[in-house]
Order: sequence, then C-alpha cells, then structure tokens
Amino acid sequence: TSRTFFLIKPDGVQRGLVGTIVDRIERKGLKLVAMDLRNVPEETAAQHYAEHAERPFYGDLLSFITSGPVVAGVLEGPRAIEAWRQLAGGTDPVEKATPGTIRGDFGLETQFNLVHGSDSEESAAREIALWFPNL
Ligand code: ATP
Repeated sequence: TSRTFFLIKPDGVQRGLVGTIVDRIERKGLKLVAMDLRNVPEETAAQHYAEHAERPFYGDLLSFITSGPVVAGVLEGPRAIEAWRQLAGGTDPVEKATPGTIRGDFGLETQFNLVHGSDSEESAAREIALWFPNL
C-alpha cells in the first residue's frame, strides 16, 4: 500500500465539486487519511510548484492556486499514486483527459484542471511533508 497527495484546486472548490470529487475517490476504494480545506500561503504554493519555476505559466499558476481555498489531502491504497492520477485524467482536460475522469468530465482549460496529484513516490513524500508535516 502507498500514499499520495491530492489537491482540489480553487476552481473545484468554487464550482462546488468537492463532494463529487471525494465521492469518486471513495468509490474507487482509496482511503482518505487526511483532508483539509485551507487557504494556500504564497510560500507553500512556491515550494509546491518549485519544479515549474522556469515555466512561462508559473506566475499564473501561483496566483491561481492562492486565489481561493483548496482542499488538500492524503490518500492511501494499493498503487495510490497511479490510481489517483487515473481518476484525475491527463493534464489538459480536453486534449488529454478522457470522459469518465475528473478533468475529462468537468474541465475545459489546462490552467483550471480542478485537481492535482503527486506524480511519483518522491514527489508524494515531498508534498505530504510540505502540506501535512505532522502526518
Ligand atoms: P498536477 O501537477 O497539478 O497534477 P500535472 O502533473 O498533470 O498537474 P504539470 O505538467 O505538472 O501537470 O503542470 C502542473 C500544473 O500547471 C497543471 O496541473 C496545470 O494546472 C498547470 N499547467 C501546466 N501546463 C500549463 C499550461 N501550458 N498553461 C497553463 N497552466 C499549465
């Protein structure tokens, strides 16, 4: 069993999709081990997205992620990292995510793609430590 970190980004919270997204997590069989609605400090956002610091969309990404409350959480289960990324769908909600995934069903633009999930064991460990230092 493994753990992954997830975010429901400000667009997902603002659009009232928290219940729908959590429902999909639970139906998949992933276990919620932490979940918290919170505002994102600039510093946390910058650390979370440090690997994108040189990308042209970095500034937009930081202002978006700090624009309103997010739901941050930790999931546990067999292949939790891959399972959550499967539920989320590809980064671009139209070109990559397929119908049946969260992004494929509810997203239109890459910047507003509703959710985040760790992409490896290393990033899961790093992100869990950043967002849930007491876990
Ligand atoms: P996440 O890390 O949020 O799960 P991802 O791993 O699918 O997303 P990354 O390539 O790591 O995608 O990009 C991180 C986030 O940056 C994306 O989820 C998206 O919100 C934003 N992003 C990526 N590419 C673009 C782009 N071309 N224009 C605007 N925003 C982008």
